[in-house]
Amino acid sequence: MANCKECDKYLKSDEIAIYRRLIHREAEEYLCRECLAKYLGVPTEVIDKRIEYFKKIGCTLF
Ligand SMILES: [Zn+2]
Repeated sequence: MANCKECDKYLKSDEIAIYRRLIHREAEEYLCRECLAKYLGVPTEVIDKRIEYFKKIGCTLF
């Protein structure tokens, strides 16, 4: 597992998956939900909704 490259928070597998899905599929460093939201300039809930959405459609990264 990994830690957020920005705030060093321990990452959940969902956070790694959404980062891969939205930013870079082959990424080896990731951002947590909060830092990813900040990076994209959206509220954290948007990231949560995206995670739910990708799970629902059966994205293989999750
Ligand atoms: Zn972070």
